[in-house]
Amino acid sequence: MPDKNIIIALDGWSGCGKSTLAKAMAKALGYVFVDSGAMYRAITLYFIRNQVDVADHIAVEKALASIQLQFIFNPAKGSSDILLNGENVEVLIREMEVASRVSEVAAIARVRQFAVQQQQRLGEKKGIVMDGRDIGTVVFPQAELKIFMTADKEIRVQRRLKELKETNAAITADLIRENLEQRDYLDANRAESPLRQARDARVLDNSTLNPEQQFTLAMGWVREVIGQAH
Ligand code: C5P
Repeated sequence: MPDKNIIIALDGWSGCGKSTLAKAMAKALGYVFVDSGAMYRAITLYFIRNQVDVADHIAVEKALASIQLQFIFNPAKGSSDILLNGENVEVLIREMEVASRVSEVAAIARVRQFAVQQQQRLGEKKGIVMDGRDIGTVVFPQAELKIFMTADKEIRVQRRLKELKETNAAITADLIRENLEQRDYLDANRAESPLRQARDARVLDNSTLNPEQQFTLAMGWVREVIGQAH
């Protein structure tokens, strides 16, 4: 029986809908879905709550030693929520306060090492779709399928606005644009594992695609790769 369990790495710019696609693919394939950004967001929430100075190496080390991250399946959503030291923080980590600090925290080498180690463990058995910024380049350079997602910036802003408006009436397109630009810049320009398109990644520009169309395109790639494996 050929091994149909592969690793799918989904990287790209902020607000491209990586998680939406990753979730749909995992569901269709019976794979595990891991939102690596949720890990950096949960760590950032801990740093904010405990006023951890990102420039203080000892404080960062101490904070990481006190952080336990877990994913638990939420049947109502059909995907996993992240727990920070046992507390479900899935909703809290989506707030702007975390979004505006996360890229600064994610740029710390020690923080990345802490997260990457756990991500690699989650992928040991393959059969996983993980989305993030460095999944195809650093976490799983051996991934059988690498997708690099991109979309027109204004389209990303409007999609995110629609999504966040449901829970935050005060949100504006300008605030979202500023956050996406700031994160894209910091993520692509940091010294440690910057956001890069892996050389063997397939580019998916979803500016003019709806979720079904991008799903069909990506699943075609999966079939192609799994077909090649035997
Ligand atoms: O994917 P999401 O937008 O939730 O990620 C939040 C932030 O976490 C990103 O802007 C980036 O700074 C960081 N991140 C990262 N590496 C990953 C996933 C996310 O640096 N693999």
